Amino acid sequence: MLAEIIDGAAVARKIRGDVADQCAMLATRGIVPGLTVVLVGEDPASAVYVRNKEKASVEAGMKSETIRLPASTTQEELLALVDRLNGDRAVHGILVQMPLPKHIDPQTVIRRISPAKDVDGFHPVNVGKVLIGEKDGFAPCTPAGVQVLLAEAGVETAGRHAVIIGRSNIVGKPMASLLIQPGPGGDATVTICHSRTNDLAWHVKRADIVIAAVGRPEMVTGDMVRSGAVVIDVGINRIADPSAKSGTRLVGDVHYESVRQVASRITPVPGGVGPRTIAMLRRNTVRAAEQQV
Ligand code: NDP
Repeated sequence: MLAEIIDGAAVARKIRGDVADQCAMLATRGIVPGLTVVLVGEDPASAVYVRNKEKASVEAGMKSETIRLPASTTQEELLALVDRLNGDRAVHGILVQMPLPKHIDPQTVIRRISPAKDVDGFHPVNVGKVLIGEKDGFAPCTPAGVQVLLAEAGVETAGRHAVIIGRSNIVGKPMASLLIQPGPGGDATVTICHSRTNDLAWHVKRADIVIAAVGRPEMVTGDMVRSGAVVIDVGINRIADPSAKSGTRLVGDVHYESVRQVASRITPVPGGVGPRTIAMLRRNTVRAAEQQV
């Protein structure tokens, strides 16, 4: 069996269409959803990601602003900026791009963002709301995007066993929070694995749905996956490839070629989970605007 590819780009296009429709409706009431991204320092990967976010938001009919601060910015200066944005009625969503320079504590910054504007979904209030199942909170974009991807691909989660590899606050834990909720896109039985899990392959082999968010290139191999499982690869890793023009290429946490032989559905890297993360950020920003006005 060769797995069917879940096309993340197509799902992202659909979300973009929905967001553009919502923006058009808000525009009739004179509201333009505003997203402000704060970038501190010169991390090149973050700069590319932020540029993509900006471009995509403008396309969707939103106002997108990026504030670039030097790496020497103090924590107090950054907190003062967050305070200003919290009070700005034209700003509905605030995102402080991680990683921050070492002298700034990310948790202090995240906690300073108003939960109503925390479209990244990292504020403890939103983390709690997602876990409780309150719908007015914001779920982090990557796991929320995976949930949408599964739904759009027609993958039933109710009663299925989902094994998540990775327990980060950005992907693994919120992914579990979303999948265990009662209702559409939830009702799964969830196992979370991490670096201290004994016999990872034993757990993965029991999954109907495997979600890999490890940050280790091609770690999940075909022999670990049950025949017919759905495999979602969140990982983005750059590895050396002398045959590529750039000398490198992107791979996921899943060994695509071997897993494709046994899985029923699989997301590619790139083109799977990645495109929807930005689409979900726009969706959260539009919802933040609706909730604030
Ligand atoms: P983190 O490094 O924060 O977390 C990795 C997790 O994997 C940790 O919980 C760690 O366990 C676990 N882990 C590490 N090694 C093993 C192992 N050998 N066996 C089992 N578990 C292991 O990463 P993130 O969650 O931030 O990101 C994960 C991947 O997803 C990365 O490749 C990242 O680039 C990608 N990513 C993609 C996004 C997208 O939009 N597509 C967005 C965000 C991330 P422990 O806690 O014990 O250390």
